[in-house]
Amino acid sequence: MSTNQELFERAQRVIPGGVNSPVRAFRAVGGTPRFIARAQGAYLWDAEGQRYIDYIGSWGPMILGHGHPAVLEAVQRAAAEGFSFGAPTEREIELAEAIIAFVPGLEQIRLVSSGTEAAMSAIRLARGATGRAKLIKFEGCYHGHADALLVKAGSGLATFGHPTSAGVPPEVVQHTIVLEYNNLAQLEAAFAEHGRELACVMIEPIAGNMNFVRASVPFMQRLRELCTAHGALLVFDEVMTGFRVALGGAQSVYAKVIPGFRPDISVFGKVIGGGMPLAAFGSSRDIMQQLAPLGPVYQAGTLSGNPVATACGLATLREIAKPGFYEALAARTRSLVDGLTAAARDAGVPFVGDCEGGMFGFFFAGSLPQHYSAVMATDKERFNRFFHGLLARGVYLAPALYEAGFVSAAHSDDDIAATVAAARAAL
Ligand SMILES: *Cc1c(COP(=O)(O)O)cnc(C)c1O
Repeated sequence: MSTNQELFERAQRVIPGGVNSPVRAFRAVGGTPRFIARAQGAYLWDAEGQRYIDYIGSWGPMILGHGHPAVLEAVQRAAAEGFSFGAPTEREIELAEAIIAFVPGLEQIRLVSSGTEAAMSAIRLARGATGRAKLIKFEGCYHGHADALLVKAGSGLATFGHPTSAGVPPEVVQHTIVLEYNNLAQLEAAFAEHGRELACVMIEPIAGNMNFVRASVPFMQRLRELCTAHGALLVFDEVMTGFRVALGGAQSVYAKVIPGFRPDISVFGKVIGGGMPLAAFGSSRDIMQQLAPLGPVYQAGTLSGNPVATACGLATLREIAKPGFYEALAARTRSLVDGLTAAARDAGVPFVGDCEGGMFGFFFAGSLPQHYSAVMATDKERFNRFFHGLLARGVYLAPALYEAGFVSAAHSDDDIAATVAAARAAL
């Protein structure tokens, strides 16, 4: 049996940094990444046989827990029928129908293989449909790694962004405006200056890539009004929140408090694939018919709508659509956040948490941050020690303070209690 350390050293010889996606490398928290050998229900086992209660869930997709019997059976049956055809299948229709049925305002969707691809395609669609080039994104929101979206704010108000990655020429991001999340004054100023040139505004409605930060209701309401008034499309990146915070996604959470609220384009991923490479973007029929083969906006994919991935997604959606699913998931997630909060209070440690559906976040801070720089100003040293304290006690949190956490239907009350007990000890 190899140790995690041995595997990490071996991995680093053939894979840059030893990982195929950077956050897995534990660079933010230090230490050796755990190499996962298998998973079942709410648990992961690493290469050394150590068990962990899993609050990453593959960064969101595993909402039913690992190895759910109905999903496993659907995947095994689909795999036996063929891995990929490059031709349409009935299951793609079924999955599209299922997603559309849960999200009001969606009339058509297109399936792709990753959230990056879906977000990138949604922007091309928004630009093609409006005939405009500029877009707004918010600092701390992640929309995958397409060039035009790897941007951070410049200095000053409503400036065009700078690339956050080498290999992205400044010209490629010259149409991307980066604003502070929840900053109404910046939003107003950006629309006043660029409103008529804006193709779209892309936002994580509940941002899960800067831990857990909600767009405030007044901010969201004004964003919707400004987009409508200026003919810009509002693009909701629900890759993380879709089918995670509620069956109708974060848009259904805002629609409860903002009458008639809807985005123009929605982007999904993670949960809709149930752990397989699958994502989607959707909108009204009018907008979606701008896509090839009907319209002038090109978009394609060899493995798009893959039969095994769609079987996995469909089986997952069937389970989460059962009555009471989200109520139970939300109650369990809430009990985790409440338990952690009480443990921190008893330890005299400043701590705040929040959650929606099966997604949660917490900060070592006195109040909930409202934007990226406030998130990054929370106590990182304490987070890192807490992370390792829990890992040593068999609880696997996301290895960076800017990531959200996820509870699955497989987490039992005992798992939550064991997690809170581990947190007490660590704190
Ligand atoms: C994960 C994520 C993406 C990217 O999805 P990938 O499948 O990793 O390409 C995009 N947007 C948001 C909000 C995400 O959380």
